[in-house]
Order: sequence, then C-alpha cells, then structure tokens
Amino acid sequence: MVSEQPLVEARNLTKTYPPRGSTAEFHAVDGIDFALERGESFGLLGPNGAGKSTTMRMIAATSPISGGSLRVLGMDPMTQGPQIRARLGVVTQDDHLDNELTVRENLHIYGRYFGLPRAVIRERATRLLDFAQLQEKAGDQVETLSGGMRRRLTIARSLINEPDILLLDEPTTGLDPQARHILWDRLFQLKQEGVTLILTTHYMDEAEQLCDRLIVVDHGRIVAQGSPRELIDRYATFQYIQLVMLPMYLFATTFYPLSVYPEAVRPVIQALPLYHSIELVREPALGRLGWDLLIPVAYLVAFGSVAMYVATRRMTRAMLR
Ligand code: ADP
Repeated sequence: MVSEQPLVEARNLTKTYPPRGSTAEFHAVDGIDFALERGESFGLLGPNGAGKSTTMRMIAATSPISGGSLRVLGMDPMTQGPQIRARLGVVTQDDHLDNELTVRENLHIYGRYFGLPRAVIRERATRLLDFAQLQEKAGDQVETLSGGMRRRLTIARSLINEPDILLLDEPTTGLDPQARHILWDRLFQLKQEGVTLILTTHYMDEAEQLCDRLIVVDHGRIVAQGSPRELIDRYATFQYIQLVMLPMYLFATTFYPLSVYPEAVRPVIQALPLYHSIELVREPALGRLGWDLLIPVAYLVAFGSVAMYVATRRMTRAMLR
C-alpha cells in the first residue's frame, strides 16, 4: 500500500523580514516543522505576533518562504503559486467583501474569479448560502449583515472552488459568544464532511472544538504540539477553592472546582462562626489537593473509630446487663 503524501509539509520553515530603518532583520517564523494529512483539522495556536498569520501566508503561497522547505498539495509555493491558490480556500481576517453588492452577488463574483461557469456558480452559491444559514439574506446588501453573518459569508465564499484545504486565520476573533458558537458549528460540519482545515487561533477553547492536532507557536518557534486534550492535560492548571474552617482543619478542608463554585456563597461562608479562610488555588497537577484531601479523610477515620468504639462499648454493656 502506498501511503498518501502529506497535504502540507514544512521542514525547518523560516520567514525573515529584512531590516527596515532602525529595525534589525526579524525572524517571524524561526524553523518550524509540521505535516498535515488529508481530512485533518490542524491548528496553530499562539499569542499575537507569534508568527501564525505569516505561516498561513506562506502556505497560501502569498508570501515567499525565506528558508527551509514547504510543500503544499505536493507543489512548491515558490514556483507553483497559482496552481496551489486555485485549490485552496482562504479566510483572512479582513474579509474584503463588496459592501455594495448583495450576499449572493459576492459569491458569484468570487466564483467568476476562479473562472467557474455561471450554472456551476449558481448551484454552488445556493448550496453554500444554505450551509452558511444565509438563505434569507441572499438578496440583501452585505453592509446590512452582522459581524457573524459576514464571517459566515466569507467562509461560504472561500468554499466556492471546492478547495482541498480551507485556511482560516483567526476565524472568530471579534465575534460575540453566540456568533462564535454558530461559526464553530458550521466549521465542525465541514470537519465532519472531511474538509481539511488549517486554522490559527489564540483561543484554546476554539482549538479544542475544531482541531484534531495543533502546534503551539511563540516567537516563531513551536513550543508544544499534540491533540488539544493532550495539551490541556499537560499544561492546564487545575483551579479550585480551598475552604478552611476553624479549629484549624478540624471539620473539613473543602474543595470546590472553580467552575462550580458560586461566588454568591462567599459572604454566607464568611459569616459562619468557624470560618477561617477561602483561598483560590491554582495547581499544575493534583499534588497538593491529594495531600490536603488526606486531612478530612483522616478526621473521618478518627471520628469513625471513636464512634465505633463508643457504640461497641454501649452494646457490650447492654448485653452484659
Ligand atoms: P500572529 O499572526 O501570530 O499574530 P504574525 O505572523 O502576524 O503573528 O506576525 C509575526 C511577527 O512578524 C510580528 O512581530 C509582526 O510584527 C511581524 N511581521 C508581520 N508581517 C511583517 C512585515 N510585512 N514586515 C515586518 N514584520 C512583519
């Protein structure tokens, strides 16, 4: 069996911006390696300025690489840019939609840009409007759309050429939570349909929703990689509330995972006579929690033993009477 070659393969990929004025030469991408298989959903996660968009531009064959090697769909972006671009869908942060035109007209113009026949565009536009849940807006001018609708239209537009890979640069940045969830739902559907996605984000929750695998980039280098679950397990801090009641540790040291701790109960707890402290604890692992749990367990065992002892004595006395 011949295994399919990666859809995108980067080896020691670098991007260096030349010195400008008093600014020295700058390594925006500093030797990264990754490979992406067909049908995968791959993420680049990192803070602003990490080099994510620069990497995307090199994959999209709109910015030349400075070093290393990059193959996209088995082709060289330096010499086969137009062939690569024809088979990609690209969603950039600036949507460049034509505000004067209607939603459907924007799809048509984009289809014409790829040289598709009108009948094909008409059929695909109807399907994509359905996918983007914009059927009712088809005849409306783009300037009347909300931010979330614009983003969905941009994604629909990027699919008009039925691309092999869809590149999304921070697809939900600036959207409200509801619009983000609708967009995640649409992108998740694409993923289910087997579309290969590459996306950049600085939200771990977004990566967790959409990516099978991701690289974490900072200062142009890969600092971690794996599935979202692996990365969360490896790096996420565990947060909980530790509540101590006086006399010190006598009754309980109680833990609440932060997510279920209702802030409103704080004044009630603080008003209790034996209240000692509430502390927000962040732990990279469960080490301290494990040890602290021994305290209430030890008290339970101790109280339990005394209670058993008293009960047994009473029973023995009663029997002897
Ligand atoms: P990200 O997408 O992770 O926020 P970018 O890839 O946009 O980061 O940028 C990485 C770094 O490269 C940033 O420090 C940015 O200022 C710099 N950079 C991006 N484009 C250029 C350019 N055309 N010329 C010089 N520096 C640039």
